[in-house]
Parts: sequence; C-alpha cells; structure tokens
Amino acid sequence: RAKQDGRGVFRFFEPALDAAARRRRQLELDLREALFTGQFRLNYQPIFDLARDRIGCFEALLRWQHPSRGNIPPAEFIPVAEETGLIVAIGEWVMHEACRQAAAWPAHVRVAVNVSPLQFRNSGFSNIIVQALTRGGLSADRLEVEITESVFLDGENGVLQVLHQLRAMGVRIALDDFGTGYSSLSYLRSFPFDKIKIDKSFVDLVAQDPSSAAIVHAIVDLARALKMETTAEGVEDRDQLNELRDQGCSSIQGFWFSRPIEGDAVLAMIAGPMSAAA
Ligand code: C2E
Ligand code: MG
Ligand code: MG
Ligand code: MG
Repeated sequence: RAKQDGRGVFRFFEPALDAAARRRRQLELDLREALFTGQFRLNYQPIFDLARDRIGCFEALLRWQHPSRGNIPPAEFIPVAEETGLIVAIGEWVMHEACRQAAAWPAHVRVAVNVSPLQFRNSGFSNIIVQALTRGGLSADRLEVEITESVFLDGENGVLQVLHQLRAMGVRIALDDFGTGYSSLSYLRSFPFDKIKIDKSFVDLVAQDPSSAAIVHAIVDLARALKMETTAEGVEDRDQLNELRDQGCSSIQGFWFSRPIEGDAVLAMIAGPMSAAA
C-alpha cells in the first residue's frame, strides 16, 4: 500500500511487513530454484517389521541443501511449498525419485511417500503416480502413500475417489500422524487404510505413562479389528520397543533402529545384520 511521507515522497511498503514478506518471498523463489537446479534429495528411514523380523519399508523424507543457508528442515519449507502451490511440482519430483530408487531394492521392501493435501486434490494425481511407477519400473504394490487426515478437511468425496483409484492399482495407503487431529476415528470409517501410523507424541511416553500406553494399546486393538497394520513413529529406546512389541504393534520406525539415511546406503542396510532385538 502506498504511503505518503511528509515530503510528498511515496513509500510503497510498511517496513515491518516488508521484512517478513520479503523473507517468505525469497524462500519461495529459492524453493522454485531448488527444484530446477536439483538441490533436493531424498533420505530414507527404515520401518522395521516386528513379525517378520526384517525391514519391510523405507519412508522417503525430503531434504533440501540450500546453497547459502545449508540444510533447511521440511518443517520449515514444506508449509511454504504448500501455501504457494509449489508442493505439487516438488511432490511430483519426490514421487518419481522415490519410485526410481526403490526399484533397485529387493522386491519385499516397499517405499512410503508423504503426500500433501494439495497434491491429492490435483485431478492428475493418479496419473502422476502411474507415470512415476512406470518410468521408475516399480510395481504398484511396493508403493505406500502416506496421507494425514488434513486431506479430508475440505470434504471427503474427491479424496475417497482418488484413494479408491490408488487402491485399485494396488498402491497401499497409510494414515500418518494418527491421533493428532480433530476427528481421527471418523476417518477410519471412511476408508479401509492399509496402515495406521501412531504419532510419536503417544510413543514418546508409552513405556512410562499409563495413559499413553492405554492409548497406544487401544489404537493397536482398533487397527487389528479393522484389519489395518500399525507403525509406531519416533521409537527412540529399547523400553518403548519392548512395550510396543508386547502390545502387538506391527512395525516400528525411529532413531532407535535408524535415523533417515542416504539413498545409496539403503541396499547395504537391507543386506546388513540389523535386527530389532540388537
Ligand atoms: P512424517 O511423515 O511424520 O515423518 C517422520 C518424521 O519424524 C521425519 O522428520 C523423521 O526424520 C522424524 N523421526 C523419525 N524417527 C524419529 C525419532 O525417533 N525421533 C525424532 N525426534 N524424530 C524422528 P522429517 O524428515 O524432518 O520430516 C518432517 C515432516 O515433513 C514429515 O513428517 C512429513 O510430514 C514432512 N515431509 C517430509 N518429506 C516430505 C515429502 O516428500 N512430501 C511431503 N508432502 N511432506 C514431507
Ligand atoms: Mg510420513
Ligand atoms: Mg508421520
Ligand atoms: Mg509425524
């Protein structure tokens, strides 16, 4: 908004607003640049299957090495990418890259890819997945799409249609960060998810706090009754692991087993002597 100062000179911006807006605008420009100059890469965090005693899946996690600011965490740049719509193009890159890399892994190991609501609402979303699978040479049943209940916030109809399309292709669907939203239970009735990911906030105190343990127990039982698997997120110590195993959780993910690793370290980890009992 133009503003006139005492000497009749026009100043076009409120200085305070300008600083925040400029920083944001810069991040947006940098994100666009990052996509076209290849500054993104994927890391992969193993998800350990407790029943089969082996790694069953790796979750693809986006990493951004900014040329001057260094590593910027997803929690900082994903929201900007979502607000600006850039997440659609970035997410397409992620899907292609994840399918391409996972095609080199043993056939029993899946890849899980996080998908934002905006990508989901894009009418071409199923086509993007088909393309990524075809070009990467990955069979659909080795891809797991992770969504949060926020995809349902604008109503269920379009979303359910896409979910059913993906399901018909053989792609698996996981409900991420379960328990942190407003009405998580109602979404379990809307769609037969393959997996529920129990949010880290419940896992953190599962071995100490009876309330956390009771909630995790209830989620695992509920999932079993609905024929869905469970993954506990953010498992950081042995006590948590033992408690989750006792409760019948299907798989665990967290720093206790492994932090996210580079794509070219995945095959060695699969071949390695790792065990959840280690
Ligand atoms: P998320 O999908 O829930 O992914 C799990 C996050 O928890 C990852 O953070 C992972 O590094 C972290 N984590 C795993 N185990 C532990 C643990 O034991 N302790 C702790 N403290 N943290 C653990 P990251 O990589 O920073 O990603 C944060 C979020 O950013 C993700 O949460 C996801 O919502 C989003 N994100 C990451 N990559 C993508 C992507 O390619 N597309 C979209 N749309 N979102 C992404
Ligand atoms: Mg996730
Ligand atoms: Mg999660
Ligand atoms: Mg989470």
